[in-house]
Amino acid sequence: MLATLILFACATSDPDTSPGDTFAEGSIWDAFSENVTVYADGDDMVLESNGYPDHTTPYWGPDHELYVEPTVTTTERMTPGYIERFVGTYTLTVPANPEKASNSSTTSLGPIGFAVSGSMIYNDREGGNEPIDNAAPGLDYTGAHTGPTSYHYHIETKAWSEDDDALIGVIADGFFLYGRKCQSTGGYPDDLDESAGHTATTQYNADPIYHYHIANEAYLDQYYLLFSGDYQGTPAAIQ
Ligand SMILES: [Zn+2]
Ligand SMILES: [Zn+2]
Repeated sequence: MLATLILFACATSDPDTSPGDTFAEGSIWDAFSENVTVYADGDDMVLESNGYPDHTTPYWGPDHELYVEPTVTTTERMTPGYIERFVGTYTLTVPANPEKASNSSTTSLGPIGFAVSGSMIYNDREGGNEPIDNAAPGLDYTGAHTGPTSYHYHIETKAWSEDDDALIGVIADGFFLYGRKCQSTGGYPDDLDESAGHTATTQYNADPIYHYHIANEAYLDQYYLLFSGDYQGTPAAIQ
């Protein structure tokens, strides 16, 4: 951890260094795709993305090189609008060393985290604050769809994680989200709190650190929700 922090400090003192290239191989920030720019700003980390994912999906328009035919959904059931329609700029500033807040807080609609792919993480709700049940058939193979402002994930991101311990992204309170398994034991963690979080080592942290997991509880018998909350830290707005 110390070595990583020193690298952060060096990175900020060199304005000519591309922010996306400043992290040592193996650093957790290096796990984010080229679609995400990450840089240190004092005690904070700043993430910027245009919201595009770095993987295939039917939500790319048919002319895009990463377009694939829908498999678990159909064109008829997909939400309207291909990814290119939702180009934007998303920025999240989180503490480099987040701490738990004295009180947890509920998530709301809209982006609640940055996935390593470059796209946004949403909670278990859709517009109107309804559960995702009705929208679920329109989700692609990696648990995502478009609207209202970006391509975003609700359930397990199978493009890069399925029943494993992969890093999914960072939640808006600065704590990281991992797949259903924990690298500390190799299995499903059995000590998760109400936010599916716990303190343990990870593939990126030799010392135990608080992090979230995708809860290993099937939703509608087949889905694994990414993050239902509450935030255990202090969330920042994603703008
Ligand atoms: Zn949605
Ligand atoms: Zn864990």
